[in-house]
Amino acid sequence: MDKSEPIYVAGHRGMVGSAIVRCLQRRGYRNIVTADRASLDLRDPHAVQRFFDERRPAYVFLAAAKVGGIHANNTYPAQFIYENLMIEANVIHAAFAAGIDRLLFLGSSCIYPRDCPQPIRESYLLTGPLEQTNEPYAIAKIAGIKLCESYNRQYGTRYVSVMPTNLYGPRDNYDLQMSHVLPALLRKTHDAKVRGDSQVEVWGSGTPRREFLYVDDMADACVFLMESGVADGLFNIGSGTDVTIRRLAETIMRIVEFEGDIVFDASKPDGTPQKLLCVDRMRELGWQSTTSLEDGIRRAYESFLSESEHEQG
Ligand code: GDP
Repeated sequence: MDKSEPIYVAGHRGMVGSAIVRCLQRRGYRNIVTADRASLDLRDPHAVQRFFDERRPAYVFLAAAKVGGIHANNTYPAQFIYENLMIEANVIHAAFAAGIDRLLFLGSSCIYPRDCPQPIRESYLLTGPLEQTNEPYAIAKIAGIKLCESYNRQYGTRYVSVMPTNLYGPRDNYDLQMSHVLPALLRKTHDAKVRGDSQVEVWGSGTPRREFLYVDDMADACVFLMESGVADGLFNIGSGTDVTIRRLAETIMRIVEFEGDIVFDASKPDGTPQKLLCVDRMRELGWQSTTSLEDGIRRAYESFLSESEHEQG
């Protein structure tokens, strides 16, 4: 990427988009273009086209999406499929119409079939039924991948897609009803410590295995791919290792310095026994994650503390 050319980061206020902006700035990119929700509605094709005409970006990171946990996906399926389809179709088409050769689309690991062999390879896409609870969201994300592939095939663009594993870090969602396990346990453990409780509650049996990636490593992978010569395809982005939920809870307790015990709530579901991405494709290109789970959680906890201070103040 040319350091002087404008780079548009769509979704720059989100967890991934903001990490991409930080990563670009760290690497000396100065011409970063953003637009907040009030000034640009990405669901509106004319507004998006106008924005591209006026700002003339040379590169696009498409990290804007409507996202949420199982509860939100179950309650608002129409919004999840409609808004994501519109955002992707508008931004990808406007990028093509503006003559942009390079774009990176953010997918999600929920695009893979529910009962995939582990670790999950990119080639398993569209080989089986999806998880029902977030199928509309997953279908929209699969459409985004197919948009990129189709524009590449028909018009010779070089649009690539990335599939992140469970991400965490600054600007995560700590709402206990909506959030994923890592931010949920970080918050629960912190609250238990502040209240002086003797226990922290962990859902399920603690035996399921999950993979986690610190969001700055994710951003680093995105910029790495955009800087590479890779022209097409999809790429899993993960740490390559998974941990049990029990192990995750113990690590969080150590970092938060909470001395109590774990109680498992067996009335809550375990979900799938394992979720781990195969990261061979990125390794072959020469990229791998660098932040250990321990260091990542430490940094996430620091941002959690400053974000909650900010909210209260
Ligand atoms: P999943 O990866 O799609 O299953 O989504 P989650 O991140 O929500 O859950 C992962 C695992 O963590 C499941 O086995 C949950 O039961 C377990 N878990 C333990 N405590 C919590 C919690 O407080 N919140 C969430 N969301 N999951 C928890």
